[in-house]
Amino acid sequence: MTQLPTQGTPWPELEARMRALGAGDVKWRDGKTTMYIFNAGEEVERVKKAAYAMFSEENGLGPAAFPSIAQMEREVVEFGLALLNAPEGAAGAMTSGGTDSIVMAVKAARDYARAKRGLKGALNLVAPFSVHPAFDKAGVMMDIEVRRVPVKDYLADVEAMAAAIDESTIMLAGSAPCFPFGLIDPIVVLGKLAEARGVWLHVDACVGGYIAPFVRMNGTELPAFDFAVPGVSSMSGDLHKYGYASKGASTVLFRSEALKAFMPFDAGPWPLGRMHTPTLAGTRPGGAIAAAWAVMNFLGVNGYRDKQRAVTEAREKIEGGVRKLGFRVLGAPKLGIVAFTHDEADSLSLLAKMYQRGWVTAGLMEPRALHVMLSPAHREFADKYLADLAAALAETAPNAAKAPTYAG
Ligand SMILES: *Cc1c(COP(=O)(O)O)cnc(C)c1O
Repeated sequence: MTQLPTQGTPWPELEARMRALGAGDVKWRDGKTTMYIFNAGEEVERVKKAAYAMFSEENGLGPAAFPSIAQMEREVVEFGLALLNAPEGAAGAMTSGGTDSIVMAVKAARDYARAKRGLKGALNLVAPFSVHPAFDKAGVMMDIEVRRVPVKDYLADVEAMAAAIDESTIMLAGSAPCFPFGLIDPIVVLGKLAEARGVWLHVDACVGGYIAPFVRMNGTELPAFDFAVPGVSSMSGDLHKYGYASKGASTVLFRSEALKAFMPFDAGPWPLGRMHTPTLAGTRPGGAIAAAWAVMNFLGVNGYRDKQRAVTEAREKIEGGVRKLGFRVLGAPKLGIVAFTHDEADSLSLLAKMYQRGWVTAGLMEPRALHVMLSPAHREFADKYLADLAAALAETAPNAAKAPTYAG
C-alpha cells in the first residue's frame, strides 16, 4: 500500500508528476471522446477554472458566512427555473450532480406522499426502462421499489406505466431526454396521468435541461417537457453537462416552495443543537457554485444559443452520415445525443473498432447500438468520426460496407 510520504514534495515536482499521470488519460481535447466531457472550448474552460479557484475554499454550508455563495446559488437556480418555464413561486437548490438531484427529488416525493397522502409501508416509483440508474440508487437508499416499464419506440409507454401504478406509487418519472437514446419522453401525456392519479411527476432533464431551451430558441420545435406541463412537480438539470460548468454542479427544481419544503433535512439534536441543510450534503463546494454562476453569466442566452447550435449541427452531421452508411437512428433525436444501430454489423464490434481508432464513445446493450453525446467542439470532428466509422464498418461487415460509403 502506498504510504503518505513523511517528507512533503514541492509543488513544481508534484505538478510534473501529475502531468505525467494525466498523460495516460483519454485525450478529450482532440475531440474523440463523446462521454464524460462537455467541451465548450478554451475560453469557457478558462472562465470556470478561474471562478472555481476564486471560491475553492468557501463553503455553501454557511450561507450567512458566505452570502456570496448563497447569492450565486440563488441566481443560478433562478436562471434554471426561468429557462424551464417554472411558475412564480417555484424553488430549487444546487446539488453535486444529477444523481444527487434525483435522489433529493425522490426523497421529497416520498416525504410528500407520506405527509399528504398518508402512505405507509412499501413504496414504489414507476419509470420507463430508459431512466438513469440514479433512480435505482435512490430506491436502494430509501427502500423504494423502482418499477421500470418497457419503452415503446424508445419512449416512455404511458399506458403501460399507468398500469404499473398502484396506491403505493410515490412518483412517476420521465426523461428530457433519456441518456441512452437522447429522446424526450411524452411529458405532456405523463403529466396528465400524474394529475389524474395524484402522483408526483419528476422530469429528469439532467442532460437536457440546459440544452433544450436553447435548441428551441434556435428554432427547433420541441414538445413541452418542463414546468409548462402542469403535472410536473420537480425536475433535475445538470450544469456540469450542457451548462458547461465545472463538475459538481446540478440543479433540482420544484414547482413550488411548498413542494421543495419536503427536501431539506432538519437533523438533531446533537451537541450543536439542530442542523438544517437544504440537500444531502453538509459541506457544499463554493468553487462548483461559483464556476456555474460564472459560466452562465459569461455565456448568457446568446452564448448558449451559439454553443448549442454547434451541438445540434454536430448531431445532424453525424446523423446524416450514419444513415448514409446504412445505420438506423433510434427515434428522432433533437438535442445532443444520438444512438444508431446497423442491421448487418454488430454495434459492440464496431464500438471496439472505433475504440482502436481512439474514439471513446458509449454503446447500448438493449438494443445493441452506438451512442454519441456531442459537444460544441464535435462539429469540427464529425467528418473524422464518420470516416473512421466507415472504415470500421468495412472491417466488421464487408458486405454491409459495399453499400454507399460516407463521402464528406
Ligand atoms: C448524467 C445523467 C444523470 C446523472 O447525473 P450525474 O451528474 O452523472 O450524477 C441522470 N440522468 C440523466 C438523463 C443523465 O444524463
